[in-house]
Formats: sequence, C-alpha cells, structure tokens
Amino acid sequence: MITGKNYIGEELSGKGDVTFKTFDPKENKETAAIFTEATTQEVDAAVEKAAAAFKVYKQKSDAEKAGFLEAIAEELEANAEALKEIYRAESGLPEGRSNGEFARTTGQLRAFATMLKEGSWVEAIISNPEGKPDIRRMQVPFGPVAVFGASNFPFAFSTAGGDTASALASGSPVIVKSHPLHAGTGELVSEAIIKAAKKTGMPDGVFSNLNSKGIEVGEWMVKHPKIKAVGFTGSYKAGTALTKLAADRPEPIPVYAEMGSINPVLALPSALEAKGDFWAEQYAGSITAGCGQFCTNPGLILGIESAALDSFVEKLGENLSNLAPSVMLSPGIQNQYEASKSEVLAQEGYTEVSKYDGEVAPNFGRQQVITVSGANFLQNKNFHKEVFGPFSVVVKCKDKTELAEVLQQLEGQLTGTVLNSEEKELSEFATIIDTLTDTVGRIIYNSVPTGVEVCAAMTHGGPFPATSNAKFTSVGLTAVQRWVRPVSFQDWPQALLPQALKDENPLGILRNINNKYTTDSL
Ligand code: NAP
Repeated sequence: MITGKNYIGEELSGKGDVTFKTFDPKENKETAAIFTEATTQEVDAAVEKAAAAFKVYKQKSDAEKAGFLEAIAEELEANAEALKEIYRAESGLPEGRSNGEFARTTGQLRAFATMLKEGSWVEAIISNPEGKPDIRRMQVPFGPVAVFGASNFPFAFSTAGGDTASALASGSPVIVKSHPLHAGTGELVSEAIIKAAKKTGMPDGVFSNLNSKGIEVGEWMVKHPKIKAVGFTGSYKAGTALTKLAADRPEPIPVYAEMGSINPVLALPSALEAKGDFWAEQYAGSITAGCGQFCTNPGLILGIESAALDSFVEKLGENLSNLAPSVMLSPGIQNQYEASKSEVLAQEGYTEVSKYDGEVAPNFGRQQVITVSGANFLQNKNFHKEVFGPFSVVVKCKDKTELAEVLQQLEGQLTGTVLNSEEKELSEFATIIDTLTDTVGRIIYNSVPTGVEVCAAMTHGGPFPATSNAKFTSVGLTAVQRWVRPVSFQDWPQALLPQALKDENPLGILRNINNKYTTDSL
C-alpha cells in the first residue's frame, strides 16, 4: 500500500504540511495517493542516519553487499505486478516498456552483485620493488550519496536504478530524491529496498527516500555537509544548477549529472544509396521510441546532398506519418516539448518533412522531422538544441567540407552513430568520423542510438554538456567508479591491510603487482 510518506532509513515519516499527488497522463487525471514532501528536519535526519550507517556499511564484505543487491531484486520481483501497475499509471508508459525496464532494473542489481562477488572492481595495485616503500592502493567509498530519480526511467534510472545500485555496490549509503512524477513507484521500490536491507542485516540509514514537489529538498540534500557525492539524470538547467550548488559548498563535492544530448547520426552516402529505405524505417522507430523521451534519441541526422538523401528523408517522413503518436510522461513534459519545438520552428529556413496532424488525446506527443541546410545549421544554434520528445532535424550539407564544419560545431554528446555500407568510404571520411568520436561517449556503427546495454564496457556519458564529467558513465558496471576514491597504504602491517591488498590474495582477485596483472599471491 502507498502511504505517501518518506523513508528516513527504515522509518516511515510524513511530518511536513506540503502535499502533492502524481498524475496519470494517459487517463489525464491525478492518481489516488497523497504524498508529503520531506521537511528540512527529515532531510537532515536521513543524511545523519546515512552518515552513521556509512561507518558500518563500508565494512561489509563485497559478498554481503552482493547479497543485499540480490535481495533488492528479489523483493522487487515479489511485488512486481503492483510496481508495474503504478509505474504505468504514473508515466503513461506501456506494458511492454514496464516489463522491459523492470527486468533491466533487477538485471542491473544482479550484475553489480556479480561484479562484487568477483571482486577485482576495487582496482588493487601493489608496488613494492626492492629497496623502496611498500605501497598498496585500492578504491574505497566516498560516503553518503544523493540520487535524483529521473522522470523518463521510473525504474532503471530512479529509486533502485543504476545510480543507486552502483553507489550501494561501492559501499556508500544512498538517499534518493524521489522524482515527483512517480512518487508512488518510488515509494514501492523503496519499500522493497528497505525490506532487503533488513533481511540482509544492513544498517538502518543505508537507504532513504525523500518526497518532494519542488526543488528545495534536492537543494538541501546537495548542500548538506555529510552528503559526499550526487547522481543526477535530467535537464541541462537542473544538472548545471546542482553542479554549481555542489561546487559552491565549503567542501565542494562531485555531481555526476547526465543532462541529455541530440545524438548526431552521420548517414554516409553509401548507407543511404544501399539501404536508405531500411534506415528510414529504423530511424522512424528510433525517433518515436518511448515518445522520443530517451536521452539517446536521435535528434540530428547529418548527410550530404544527394538523390539518396532526398529519398531517405521522404521515406522517413512517410514512415513517421504512419506511426500513431503516444502519450508523454506528464502534461509538463508535453508542454515543454511543444514549447521547445516551437522555438526551433520559429526559425527561418527549414523545410517540413513530416508532422503528425491528426487529432491526439491530451498529453500525447506528435512526432515531427524537419530538414535544414548545412549553412543554416552552422549559422543558427537554435537548430542544435535538444527537443525532448519525438523530434529530429536532418541537416543536408552541400559537401564533405561543410559536413566537417557542422561536426566541429557540435557540443559534447552521449552518442554518435555512423551509417555506412562500403568499408573504403570509412577511410575517405576518417577525419570526420574522428571529429565525431572526439565529441561523444559512445560511437555506434550501423544501428540506432536508442537502447543502452548494461554491461562492463558501456559508456553512457560524454563531454559536457552531455554530462558534467566525461570521465564517467552512469550505465554499466564502471558506474561504480563515480562513488569511490583511491587510498594508498604505505608500509602498512599485513594484519591491518584490507583483504584485497593482503599478500596471500584471499579474495582471489586480479591485481596489478609491480606492473603485472595477476591473481597470484605475493
Ligand atoms: P529536471 O527538470 O531536470 O528535474 C529532474 C529533478 O531535478 C527533479 O527531481 C527536479 O525537482 C530536480 N530539479 C530541477 N531543477 C532543480 C534545481 N535547480 N535544483 C535542485 N533540483 C532541481 O528534469 P525532468 O523533470 O525529469 O524533466 C524535465 C526536462 O528534463 C525534460 O523536458 C527534458 O528536457 C529533460 N530530461 C532530460 C533527460 C536526459 O536526457 N538526461 C532525462 C529526463 C528529462 P522537481 O521536479 O521537484 O522540481
């Protein structure tokens, strides 16, 4: 049952007098539960509990933390139907997506558990050449982490999503600022986390969940001296505001903000000549997937003027016109979509390719694609902006030189994609492809950017403004590196060294010993 209260560690608490409801965008009406926003005192209590829990939690072995993450997955599965039902009501997302995102979330928790059980993630390094000090280094957790749930992934990037799973894996307690669009989903997920924490003997305060209607709760969290790092997925505006707030603290802390992207797609001539119709179909699907509300949505397609590019654009338009629009996450996001689309459409010099003109229900997002010339795109930065929704701009460059200029102007991106059908063309466009690679966190060959695999090699990140720190990823197993820092132990007694650094290698992990990777003992 949804209580509408906050979880201050294991305790349900609703001391405030600011309340709010969530909204079902498909039914176009509020949902039943009433949520109470956390007060400053409740934020403080959650952070104090987390700071106390950190002292105990960081001592837990990797096997114990793995057990906790697996128990969260099991508790989520035990309440799967209720969770998916409230997820769909609060997001308007369809059944298939609720099933897929749920499986991704439990899979992600288990993937981090497997990583912990293997153990080498701590990056143990031992340097003890003859006649020098014995220095042994490994990664240790920072301390309490504040996580901002994302509007567009109520399961996978929210309460028990990648930020939470990776921070808990690192040994850091987590306080979630629940996203106000899906506070009910957030509470039920939190209930599962708290049950799992109790079952596996984790300290009270290892996890808290705070409701909020406005930005204050998040601000208090980020400013609290005992919060040591922040994970965020959302808009550029909020991500940069939080980064500034954290940098202005007496003790600045890192904010890992993933702020979106227009995900340029480089459609090379051979791809459009050989498979233009195929790519037109694939990209119509990718632009409208999740009603365009993915940070990897292909918002920019770049090509060189040709009959094949014209035919691709025409087919893309036809395919888009034939797809039924879908509901967006909330009236606010739908309004924002219309407003940012209108800003682009107020510019001079674009051509309409396709827009869905039919009647739609409230909160539905109509897909739209336009083309602009390379020259126009270069002159007018309004065409570079992210429009969060099913909208994409095709840039028709007059030649390779103009295409290179366009790529040089682009800001940091989460992804870049190259479509190609002839290998020799890749060397002709090598410099251009190199510029694209320099701009992105993930470079994709002959596919669509939507769909982000959770695996060890994934980078879901990229240079600013795609993220606040291009060195890290928010998806995949190395996401754990955001919550740890290295410590070197110099000439430290064997008995007091952490397990990962002892001579006999009791954990059997891969270590760098005097510049050689090995699982051997010393
Ligand atoms: P948002 O406005 O960035 O908000 C995300 C979270 O940050 C919310 O919990 C919000 O709190 C909080 N927040 C916002 N401004 C803040 C500030 N100045 N200080 C502290 N906290 C702040 O994102 P959203 O609500 O998810 O969606 C709005 C827009 O964000 C979308 O239209 C889209 O453009 C973008 N977005 C991008 C991505 C992505 O690709 N990375 C994903 C989702 C959304 P409140 O809601 O309580 O104000």
